[in-house]
Amino acid sequence: FRRKQPSAAELVSNILKGDKTALSRAITLIESTNVDHLAKANEVIQGCLPHANKSVRIGITGVPGVGKSTFIEAFGKHLTSLGKKVAVLAVDPSSSISHGSILGDKTRMEELVKDENAFIRPSASGDSLGGVARKTREAIILCEACGFDTIIIETVGVGQSETAVHSMVDFFLLLKIAGAGDELQGIKRGIMEMADAIVINKADGDNIAKAKLAKTEFNRALHLFPAKNSGWTPKVTTCSAFEKTGIDNVWSIITDYFQLVKENDYFDYKRKEQNQFWMMETINEQLKTHFYNHPEIITLLEQNKKAVQNNEVSPFAAAQLLLNQYFNNRK
Ligand code: GDP
Repeated sequence: FRRKQPSAAELVSNILKGDKTALSRAITLIESTNVDHLAKANEVIQGCLPHANKSVRIGITGVPGVGKSTFIEAFGKHLTSLGKKVAVLAVDPSSSISHGSILGDKTRMEELVKDENAFIRPSASGDSLGGVARKTREAIILCEACGFDTIIIETVGVGQSETAVHSMVDFFLLLKIAGAGDELQGIKRGIMEMADAIVINKADGDNIAKAKLAKTEFNRALHLFPAKNSGWTPKVTTCSAFEKTGIDNVWSIITDYFQLVKENDYFDYKRKEQNQFWMMETINEQLKTHFYNHPEIITLLEQNKKAVQNNEVSPFAAAQLLLNQYFNNRK
């Protein structure tokens, strides 16, 4: 027998009661590509929306191996010990190929997974970053409605996913490890510029001195960046996710930040800007998807790709022809 699926209203009512099973189910609906599911997912989101927005959203990035999952486990446990309810989501657009390179592995965050006050969800899969990011944005709303007051969004330090995560969180944390004096090499300037804090992990054993040196160098480098609109000066600190040292200090930096931006209203301002941004992103994304999946366009596109390759028609004329065809059909 197949179990009867709960209605959208039932899901909303259970999510609002803090039911993690209902939350999981609703996120699965959001991630589904089935058209019927889409309508139901929208109903659930709409029902949850008035109860969302009451959380802090923290983005965490860093290259593979830097210790993100170890850090999030230690950090998450610290937060639940303070009475917080922590949801961990991920944005990993490569997950459809690699079957979840982050958060997919069940052995990660073993302690946090068992914690009643934590909810961990691997990245949605999808072939576009925009699609994965949208699903994550929607999942944030559901987690908040379910009573999670601290939302952590993990992403890998490769590609464009940091920018997407940066635009859905209030605080952006860059996790690093100390190298052999070459701390500032190979760091994408843009990512450092987005960071509200740089945390140098693995500051334990023989690494402590190197981590301290890295901290000084990052502090110096951060001074070269223009001041942030938030009025916040990015902080650099060290920790060992493994030995669980320095984790409380990371949290105190984050609470200082929230105190500042709630006082100066930057918190609300940024969230409003982000909402508008995501509306525009969603329109762009759906226009593209609709265009490229249109049967007539698929055929025309193939024909014109060849014609453009053979110099039979200019790229601009071909593009115009396709767009005219698409838009004229809908007039
Ligand atoms: P991720 O790929 O960024 O999620 O990194 P992981 O959390 O999987 O960690 C990568 C490796 O670094 C693992 O072998 C961890 O045990 C190790 N590691 C993580 N944090 C620390 C730390 O604070 N100190 C030390 N010495 N090792 C750590």
